[in-house]
Amino acid sequence: MSAGLNYAQQEAVNYLQGPCLVLAGAGSGKTRVITRKIGRLIQAGMDANRIAAITFTNKAAAEMRERAKTLIGRDAKQVLVCTFHALGVRMLRQDGAALGLKPQFSILDSDDVTSILKDAGGSTDSATARQWQWAISLWKNMGLNAAQAEAQAKDDSEKVTARVMARYEERLAAYQSVDFDDLIGLPLKLLQQHPEVREKWQQQMGHVLVDEYQDTNATQYEVLKLLVGERGRFTAVGDDDQSIYGWRGATLDNLKRLPVDFPQLKVIKLEQNYRSTSAILRAANNVIGPNPKLFPKTLFSELGEGEPVRIVDADNEEHESERVVARIQSIRANGMGKDWKDFAVLYRANHQARVFEQALRKAQIPYKVSGGQSFFDRAEIKDLCAWFRLWINNDDDPAFLRAVTTPKRGIGHTTLQNLGTFASKYKLSLFEALFSSSLGAALPAKAVGSLHEFGRYVNDLEFRARHTHGAEASRAFMLEWLKDIDYEKHLYDGEDSEKLAASRWTNVLEFCDWMSQRAGGEIEDAAGASIASEKKSLLEVAQTIALLSTISEREQDQNVVTLSTLHAAKGLEWPHVMLVGVTEGLLPFKLGDDDNPTGRADGPMSEGILQRLQEERRLMYVGITRAQRSLAVSWTKRRKKGREMIAAQPSRFIAEMALEKLTTVEDPREKLKALRAEFAKKAVDSAAAAAALAAAATGGS
Ligand code: ATP
Ligand code: MG
Repeated sequence: MSAGLNYAQQEAVNYLQGPCLVLAGAGSGKTRVITRKIGRLIQAGMDANRIAAITFTNKAAAEMRERAKTLIGRDAKQVLVCTFHALGVRMLRQDGAALGLKPQFSILDSDDVTSILKDAGGSTDSATARQWQWAISLWKNMGLNAAQAEAQAKDDSEKVTARVMARYEERLAAYQSVDFDDLIGLPLKLLQQHPEVREKWQQQMGHVLVDEYQDTNATQYEVLKLLVGERGRFTAVGDDDQSIYGWRGATLDNLKRLPVDFPQLKVIKLEQNYRSTSAILRAANNVIGPNPKLFPKTLFSELGEGEPVRIVDADNEEHESERVVARIQSIRANGMGKDWKDFAVLYRANHQARVFEQALRKAQIPYKVSGGQSFFDRAEIKDLCAWFRLWINNDDDPAFLRAVTTPKRGIGHTTLQNLGTFASKYKLSLFEALFSSSLGAALPAKAVGSLHEFGRYVNDLEFRARHTHGAEASRAFMLEWLKDIDYEKHLYDGEDSEKLAASRWTNVLEFCDWMSQRAGGEIEDAAGASIASEKKSLLEVAQTIALLSTISEREQDQNVVTLSTLHAAKGLEWPHVMLVGVTEGLLPFKLGDDDNPTGRADGPMSEGILQRLQEERRLMYVGITRAQRSLAVSWTKRRKKGREMIAAQPSRFIAEMALEKLTTVEDPREKLKALRAEFAKKAVDSAAAAAALAAAATGGS
């Protein structure tokens, strides 16, 4: 078990007695420690099903499961490898009854939450609803309920939000639904308020391992603390310099609290970086340098100096994307990288992906966008998922509303509104209301008839999905259902562009395949809740869907270039990385106000701006440290601001990287420009000659 581990890593892997914190910089093998420690624990006699490893994303979980499998074989399947949220789902499905939750409660996605908030706030616009959503989420992450939020509200607007939150929570309870924050908050409540549940889980958890510990928030920390109890059998690994989720309530206080809450804590530091060349590591260390240090640490690499970090400047985004594509092609041509999957293009915000997608397409380079709009965020997939949610939980009103109108089946909004009023009057869910014997008094007979027909159809589907097992049967079932509801036509009717409709339909078919593979036990689910090679009913497969935010397991082996946000790139590595949009105002993101967008006031920066700048710097550090062999950083001389194009500067981080030799890559376009100018001149000359000739000719007649 100690092969491929340095001394400090071995120490962390072999320390099984009590709480252990591994605190170390990027690429120093923290995640490797976690995977190896799973093996070590099993070797030491712990039952695999008493080990839980918590990762930050489903994708990271899938990857760790894969690594653990190679390392320890069959036993790895018993280990619970999942995100905090997936663990929360598991706890609530098992023990949520103590909080009044049915085991088949629904998990709302962000769209559902917005629409419930719109309604709870008295039909406001989406923008306001999203602001509420943001604020409520933060409060929930701080562990505040609606009453506590109202008590601490600083102004009227916060008070209003807190009151909306109260109505929102009532609705969630009525719908038997939870939102993403509840997946952490409710398990905490469960552990705090129900000693028997807490003891059960503490017994169950032999050892808990947590990756990316620096990005846990206060609530997650409390859950962890209660799960491991006083004995504190856990291993947390993290890097304070990579804390990039402050905006979502993550707090470094969790790092500071560990040694206080667990005085027996063993702290281990790792200093050797095994990922990047010295040139890349130096740039990373220089960028993170100015940030205050929680724990001092130095990183070194023995991989040699390597290629210098390159700076690429471009006129605008389109030009930048062309240059990045040219770089990928030239690295491949030089034989430095051979597989497409060796390359990643990383940017700050989702919307930056589009231009790069276009350029890659034009060059016929295969790619995937990760961390952006995931497969499950696409409207067509959500439509189908709404039906599944309704099967699982008839009281899921948002799902009901989506399914009943997708496709439209002659049930209009007036009917739905009346049904809604009726349902709230009798405290019923929409689906329950539909079958109520007194509905006839409130709605016209025709409307009641259509509603009944819909209700019966849903019940019938649910019954059949429960009894459909295996891949083939599931695929046939789904295709028949899609035909029944005429979904393909619905897509074409709703879309102006046929091409777009066709691509949506392809997604739907792909989704059907994927669902059926799951039912056939061909792939594990990313929630880590099931064991591969076990046949499942289609209904069971549908149950795990709401939690999945990526189809990442399928993407893993694809030999394609990765486009990703910096946030989603955390923990990952590629031989060749291109950090794009490293332009002041984008990274660091606009820090100050419009008059002083960079926040570079003459005087000292305000505390708020300083903290934001520090988080931006950590984000840049995360980006740089994803690169193994080569790194290019690009910026644009002009950038979009709203609809306008404005002049822009290279990010201050480029200067901070303090590259000895600023190796700016030569732009082949300059050469082309000169050639074109020469050509143009010739063309002008010949035009002038032609004109002269013509004039001579007329003059001569
Ligand atoms: P991050 O902070 O980015 O999450 P990390 O600290 O988790 O990084 P890992 O991803 O575990 O680092 O390791 C980085 C790379 O170094 C991986 O490719 C890993 O396989 C390799 N590695 C880790 N430890 C060793 C070692 N002792 N010997 C050789 N390679 C190692
Ligand atoms: Mg890691």
